Amino acid sequence: MPKSKSQPATCCVENLQPVRVRCPECGGGQFEPARGRFGPIWRCTNHPQCAFWLSSKPTGKKCRYTLDHKPCGALMVEGTKTIADRCSDKNCPNRNPHKLKSTATD
Ligand SMILES: [Zn+2]
Ligand SMILES: [Zn+2]
Repeated sequence: MPKSKSQPATCCVENLQPVRVRCPECGGGQFEPARGRFGPIWRCTNHPQCAFWLSSKPTGKKCRYTLDHKPCGALMVEGTKTIADRCSDKNCPNRNPHKLKSTATD
């Protein structure tokens, strides 16, 4: 087997396993790896009926960041080596946990 074959970054999708995390959008699907435009994405197994997808692997945990006394509740996704697990909701401050300060400055 030739090992030196150069492959695009999306090659590793085949090595990823589906995760048993329920899709918050349709409530019935789970997440499976798929080829995204810029690398692997995690999309709902009810695709294409459900268009929900995440750019990082969901951890199965829910965001516990509270905003206006209401828990966010969005799915948490895996972070990187330097960033902790983060919220998948782009509008949630916990999306960028490394930028969060322990106390707000207002
Ligand atoms: Zn779904
Ligand atoms: Zn959140």
